[in-house]
Amino acid sequence: MLDDQRLDLLELLPAQAEIELARHFAARGQPAYRVAQARAWLYQRDALHFRELTDLPAGERAALADRFTLTAPELARVARSSDGTVKHLWRMADGELLESVLIPARARMTLCMSSQAGCALACVFCATGWSGYRRQLTAAEIVAQFRGARRWARAHEGGEITNVVFMGMGEPLANRKAVMPALTLLNQGYGLGARRITVSTVGIVPGIRELAARPEQFRLAVSLHAPNHELRRRLVPVEKKHPLPELLEALRAFEAAGGRRITFEYVMIDGVNDSPELARELAALVAEFQAHVNLIPFNPIPGAPWQPTPPARLRAFAEVLQARGVAATVRSPRGRDIAAACGQLRAEHETRPPKPFVELMRAERPEVAALSGSV
Ligand code: SF4
Repeated sequence: MLDDQRLDLLELLPAQAEIELARHFAARGQPAYRVAQARAWLYQRDALHFRELTDLPAGERAALADRFTLTAPELARVARSSDGTVKHLWRMADGELLESVLIPARARMTLCMSSQAGCALACVFCATGWSGYRRQLTAAEIVAQFRGARRWARAHEGGEITNVVFMGMGEPLANRKAVMPALTLLNQGYGLGARRITVSTVGIVPGIRELAARPEQFRLAVSLHAPNHELRRRLVPVEKKHPLPELLEALRAFEAAGGRRITFEYVMIDGVNDSPELARELAALVAEFQAHVNLIPFNPIPGAPWQPTPPARLRAFAEVLQARGVAATVRSPRGRDIAAACGQLRAEHETRPPKPFVELMRAERPEVAALSGSV
C-alpha cells in the first residue's frame, strides 16, 4: 500500500511500541492489560498477523490491524543440510531476497542474520560481495529474520535460538541506522543477552567506535583475512578506506570500553593467505588483544578459481598462532550441501545469471586476479 499510514510495530523500540499500544487501547476504552497481551504476541510468540492474537476480542484484533502493521517476510525457500544447518530464504515486501542460517551446535543454536540486501564492500572471496549492493534493510526486516527463524525452529522441534551473529549478507556497521535499533530490539524486546549477540564487521571504524560507546556488552568479530595492508587491501577493499593501524586503534578503544574479547575471523584460501610467514605476522598483529582467531576454510563459490586451504596446512597455521599464545580454532565448514556460503542461496534465485567469476575478476579486479596463478 503506497499511502499506508499505519505504524509498523516491529520497527519501534520496545518502549516506544508499549507507548503506542497503551495509547491505542486507552483510546478504545480497553483495560491496561491488553498492552501486556499484545506485547507477548510481539516479542515472545512472534505473531505475523494480528489475527493470531486469539486472546484479544475479534474487534480489538481488527482495530490493531487498522492502526498498525507487522513486517512479515514470506518464506521463499528452506534448505536443510545433513549436518543440521538450516538456511531460510526470505522474500521482503518489495521482492528482495534475504538469507538467514540456523546453526545447531551442542547446547547452542546460533542464527546468522543478514543486515543488508547485497553488499557494496566487494570482498573477493564472498558471493554476496560479487553480486553487488541492492539496498539497506530496515530494523524490522532484520528482526523479522529472527522472528521467522524462531517460529520455524519451534514448529520443527529445532529448539530455541540462543545466539545471534550478524554474519550473513551485508556489512552490519554500514547499516547502523537499522542495525543499532535491531540490537536494542533483540536485547530488550526479544530477551537475548547482549553477550549472545555478535556483530561481525570487515572493519568499519566509525561503527566499531559507536558499538564501543554502547553500554551493553555486545560482542565484536572482525573479519581480518590478512595480517598486512598489502594483502588485505586486495582481499578486503575496505582496507583502503580504513587501513589496519586505524582499525587496530578502534579495536583498542572497543576493548578498553568494557574488556570484551574480540574474535578475529580469517578465511583460509589455498595458496593466497595461508603461509606460515603470514601466520607469524597474524600472531604478532593480534597478540595485544584478548583475542580469539577463528580460521575458516574458504567456502568455494561456483566458478571461482580458489580452493580452501587443505586441512594439514590449516592445522599448521593454527599451531603457529597457538605456539605464540594466540587462541585459535579451526572452524569446520557447515551446510556445504545447501550452498551455505553467504549469498549463494539467493544467487541461485536471481533471474539474471551472474557473469562467470573469472571473467568478472579479470575485468574488474586485475590486482586480485594476480593473486591466483589459475586466473
Ligand atoms: S564478506 Fe561481508 S563485507 Fe565482505 S562483501 Fe561479503 S557480505 Fe560484504
